[in-house]
Amino acid sequence: MNRRYDVCVLGSFMKDLVASAERRPLPGETLHGTGFAEFLGGKGVNQAIAAARMGARTAIVGTIGDDRYGEEFLELLKSDGVDTEWVLRHPDLGTGVGLPLVLPDGGNSIIIVSRANSAITPADIEAAAEVLAASGVLSVQLELPVEASRAALELASAAGVTTILTPAPVGTVDPSLGEFVDILVPNEVEAAALTGLDCDDESEVPAIARRLTSEWDLRGCVITLGARGAFVRDELTGEELRVPAHRVATVDTVGAGDAFCGSLAASLAAGAGLADAVRLANAAGALSTTIHGAAVSAPDRPSALRLLDA
Ligand code: ADP
Repeated sequence: MNRRYDVCVLGSFMKDLVASAERRPLPGETLHGTGFAEFLGGKGVNQAIAAARMGARTAIVGTIGDDRYGEEFLELLKSDGVDTEWVLRHPDLGTGVGLPLVLPDGGNSIIIVSRANSAITPADIEAAAEVLAASGVLSVQLELPVEASRAALELASAAGVTTILTPAPVGTVDPSLGEFVDILVPNEVEAAALTGLDCDDESEVPAIARRLTSEWDLRGCVITLGARGAFVRDELTGEELRVPAHRVATVDTVGAGDAFCGSLAASLAAGAGLADAVRLANAAGALSTTIHGAAVSAPDRPSALRLLDA
């Protein structure tokens, strides 16, 4: 079928205002910080930019505020060629923000305020049916209200669109979504939370993927294992593959999972098999860790292919 987009992402927009400090402030205390940085992120934005940089014609569906941060997102997405026609602007709620505090040992505490992200409804999804059904692959995470995510997965699935779910944050996962999901992409923490099994034990990883594939009735399950790489089970071919991570000069792992997922979606939309799509996504995820930031750290396709061939 000739579809208008390769990849459609339904997801969040989060402006991160990151403060660094020597320690957390005590209750009632005002503390001088040691640094400040701003990043554009949110899993939806990160994945859409990653898919577009991997060569996919990409659209994003989600909600921003009618404010300066919203403008920054539209500018960034457009500069990467992502179609923003389906981004809604909420008149009252501002664009979502994240307020991470980073400590010298790399530890962090984060306050997230969803704002406009929380306003998207199943009716909004219905209004975007045209784009959801006109894409090769729909990628969804769970930072938006679950009814909206469910409506999008259901609509796309009925239209024959391949659906990918990143089950994050894992606390909001509803296994009944499985009916509309082809490929589940948990990281190791999410896979453990969903099964009660431990991904630290390498020998357990295939069993975890098999269990998720059968419990969720999936076409495939991909578990991302951070600096250990990834594992994929393809239910269509019965293929299982353990892909070790590429050795790169990692500086910041934020957004690695989203770069991986966006790349996976782009490859699947281009007709790649799941195992090949995971190999390239593993390279994209690795490269994203070599650059600071989330959305902006996604690599382009030639760079990912070069690392894969190296
Ligand atoms: P998340 O960001 O969702 O927690 P992961 O940490 O599992 O996801 O990372 C996603 C993917 O990015 C991994 O499967 C791997 O391909 C790649 N990756 C992550 N961290 C590294 C690293 N330190 N070195 C190389 N590749 C990495």
